Amino acid sequence: MTRPTSALVLFSGGQDSTTCLASALKRFAHVETLGFDYGQRHEVELTCRENVLRELRSRFPQWADRLGDDHMIDLSVLGEISDTALTRDVDIEETEDGLPSTFVPGRNLVFLTLAGALAWRRGISVIIGGMCETDYSGYPDCRRETIDAQQKALALGMDRSLTVETPLMWLDKGETWQLAEDLGGQDLVDIIIDETHTCYLGERKRKHDWGYGCGECPACKLRASGYEKWKRGVLA
Ligand code: ZN
Repeated sequence: MTRPTSALVLFSGGQDSTTCLASALKRFAHVETLGFDYGQRHEVELTCRENVLRELRSRFPQWADRLGDDHMIDLSVLGEISDTALTRDVDIEETEDGLPSTFVPGRNLVFLTLAGALAWRRGISVIIGGMCETDYSGYPDCRRETIDAQQKALALGMDRSLTVETPLMWLDKGETWQLAEDLGGQDLVDIIIDETHTCYLGERKRKHDWGYGCGECPACKLRASGYEKWKRGVLA
């Protein structure tokens, strides 16, 4: 039996998935989290997940009871089939087709398929992910059209109704900061600044207004410019 009051959130420990998790905790009585270990160059991402979950439990007691099991799936196999900056020590740069070299082809398709299988096992019918078309770096598996197709494939393939929610799909990074404030006020904004990780280089020593990071990689630049936009109040 499915539990329509439950959701499974794809949770990496980054700004986007932390905002999605808060959004789920606000709306669902029971929320579980799923992370993937796919040979990220930086253990820091996995540490951030644990720290975010700990801080959410402690600063939002009203959400603590809703926060259920955290699942991790080993996807080191992705490292075997991809040759990208995310999984190997090559420079982060734009490739000929305009995609950043961190691109792991079809990564979200794999994530959602495994999330669908886990959701089935856990009796959960809503999967929530932070995919976003607005600021997206050219990842075709972040487009809503792709998600719609996979949602249909999962529902057909498992003969069960299943929804993939993408609350950030049409927001830019400034609006994502605003959403965090709307959901959890300054406490949630502080957790995102102090505990979440976005930087491609895994830099955790340099702290900026918007959090830790090198400040130079595409992920840091996007996060920083979104933060500035939100702070200046010039959201669209
Ligand atoms: Zn960076």
